[in-house]
Amino acid sequence: MAKMIKRSRRPELMWGLGLDKTLAQQIEKGVGPGFHLRNYPADSLPNDRDLTHDEKPSAAWIPWSVWTSFPEFRREAYRNQDSTQRILIQDHGDTDLEMEQVLAEGFLTVVRTPLTRPKIQDVMFRAKEVTSMYSDIYRMTEEIMLERELLSRKTDQLLFLNRILASATESLEATTILANAKETLSLVLPVKVLNAAFWNRQQASEVADVEIFLNGKMPPATESAWVEHLMASASTMGSGPVNGFQVVHTDPARRPEYAHKPDDGRLVTMPLTAGNETFGCLALLCEPGHRLGKDQVETFRSAINHIGLALRNALTFKEVKLRADRDGLTRIYNRHSFEERLVYEIKRRRRYNHDLSLLMVDLDHFKSVNDTYGHKAGDMVLQKVGEILTKTFRTTDLAARYGGEEFVVLLPHTSEEAAWKLAERVRENVESCKFSFEDNVFTVTASIGVASVEGGALTSDDDLIIKADKALYQAKNNGRNMVVVSGQPSSSQPAVQ
Ligand code: GH3
Ligand code: MG
Ligand code: MG
Repeated sequence: MAKMIKRSRRPELMWGLGLDKTLAQQIEKGVGPGFHLRNYPADSLPNDRDLTHDEKPSAAWIPWSVWTSFPEFRREAYRNQDSTQRILIQDHGDTDLEMEQVLAEGFLTVVRTPLTRPKIQDVMFRAKEVTSMYSDIYRMTEEIMLERELLSRKTDQLLFLNRILASATESLEATTILANAKETLSLVLPVKVLNAAFWNRQQASEVADVEIFLNGKMPPATESAWVEHLMASASTMGSGPVNGFQVVHTDPARRPEYAHKPDDGRLVTMPLTAGNETFGCLALLCEPGHRLGKDQVETFRSAINHIGLALRNALTFKEVKLRADRDGLTRIYNRHSFEERLVYEIKRRRRYNHDLSLLMVDLDHFKSVNDTYGHKAGDMVLQKVGEILTKTFRTTDLAARYGGEEFVVLLPHTSEEAAWKLAERVRENVESCKFSFEDNVFTVTASIGVASVEGGALTSDDDLIIKADKALYQAKNNGRNMVVVSGQPSSSQPAVQ
């Protein structure tokens, strides 16, 4: 196209290769205005540089005598000049050439001297026709190539969506889904950071807590900037008020100094929806200056939808799991979780021989708390004791409500003596706690049985429970509000100090 525009602006270039004066004049006259003939004398024909770099002539006029005097490599070079139509000029003295030979030499056609105007016009007309045919073919080829490219782009997009789908459904952990999503989205966009926020609200009027997922640890100022951005997005995109937030780092190994602030590139914040409800948003920070094609934007949107669905599933799964693992009243683990964990810890102990201890806690005369202050007061006490247990132990320990007013605490890597000390602390914390309910202030005490397996000693899942239970029974018998260690007859303190 560019070539055509250029042609209409200035005279079209033609070459003459070794034309004598008469021929050059005849041709110039014959083609008329609109053409410029550059004739190279026979002794200074265009060299390689002229052939490759100069403006390409649309036609070249070459007498047969000149052509036959060329060495073969030079003829080859002319033949390779695709955009030039070569016209052979045959003199009366030359031997007759078959058309086949003319074409085989790469000429468009042959004209005989004398070069009259009609002959030249005829040749030029044919040259024009061929040129326009060439440009049609060229354009069609371009169209085909474009279509092929679009097709391959479509294929790439399908592959990309497939990858997104596979990696998003690989896990039910929001952190894993987000880490995978960042990696997969980077295939189409240079994503530097992928942060997210989720909010959960049962009713529209409820104030929602926001769970914020950040791409790694970051300096405090950077983290505040992200939290602020995500909280602002949560309050505009969500359907109600938001209040507190919790931060989870999806990639704890990422170095804080590589953290990017929200204004460190092009920030795109997209809502995540399920049905009519917007439950979260993704904030993507990309390298600036990168544009997506319209089709790519569509693909990107559906990728985000897939990720959104996967995240929704993960959050539902987490909620369900939380409900199944926890006790409804105290929100600490339930008996089922404890039993599962006990089996796991005993298996682990068989391999590593580390110490394992168990506390069994039972509130004293709890029936009378209910009888005196009411069942609701009893519930409040149970909740408070749950809190005391959560506060006393490490996250690797497991405190659970075993049933009624009985609690258990599983302590991996904890010796009998350490367990006894912890049990004492719990006993003291419960004893010193002032419970108040409807104008009544009262105290409660607890009895605790401790059982441990240390070193290479063998044990079964039940063993530990039975022993702790027996120790608890002894504590009750010995007057309550005390800790008894299994196998230590009547004292509340282990023999080993
Ligand atoms: P002991 O010192 O011998 O353990 O006496 P106790 O009264 O604590 O023991 P007992 O087993 O006789 O009574 C347990 C009481 O705990 C009876 C029951 O009503 C109460 N209880 C169990 N679960 C709950 C609960 O979820 N909420 C309330 N409020 N009370 C409960
Ligand atoms: Mg009991
Ligand atoms: Mg009791």
